[in-house]
Amino acid sequence: MEDGQWNIRKVSQLAPHEQVQKIFSFQIQQQQGQQDQAVWTLNSNGIFSISSAWNIIREAREKTKFNTYTWHKSIPFKCCFLLWRTIRGKLPTNEKLANFGVGPNRCYCCYSPGFDTIEHTFNSGPFARNIWRNFAASLGIQTDPLPLRNNILRWWNTNHNNEAHKLILQSTPIFICWNLWKNRCSKKYGGKQSSMARVRHLVMLDTFKLLQTT
Ligand SMILES: [Zn+2]
Repeated sequence: MEDGQWNIRKVSQLAPHEQVQKIFSFQIQQQQGQQDQAVWTLNSNGIFSISSAWNIIREAREKTKFNTYTWHKSIPFKCCFLLWRTIRGKLPTNEKLANFGVGPNRCYCCYSPGFDTIEHTFNSGPFARNIWRNFAASLGIQTDPLPLRNNILRWWNTNHNNEAHKLILQSTPIFICWNLWKNRCSKKYGGKQSSMARVRHLVMLDTFKLLQTT
């Protein structure tokens, strides 16, 4: 280092063309008998990987309990993704279409009139409330009205007795939302009747399949 600093000082005193010659003549110390190789410092083994490059450039979202519990490797991706879209208002319900000048539309779930909004279809409408109450009661969970996100968090914050119980508390809100959406779409696009019995049965079936595979 001392030598290097001394050399650099000396080089700066030379004429420009001599400086270039001198710089090219420097010998860089390297390991004898070993070829140079590229080292990717973001991985401990020095090998490049897409995931490490992605991790350095991505803007990671804060890990909240809600974000973590939305996903589970044994719950079908389509169901988790639907909940993700629901909470972020990324579904083609009427309140979205209203932005394009479409008037308010009746819901596709209830016999009594309601509007086709995310909150109504998934949480506050009589149809959805009945489905939530049905499953919450059997698991000893409170059923007083809360906004959708808080209602789901109430399930996820309930103490569990074992791993199976924990999985049921996590998966049931996801399966309820998934089947409420399926019910709404089968009425709207498939000409089927909205049916509480069918939604209850499908939530049970999804839960049963999950417990079988886990
Ligand atoms: Zn409704």
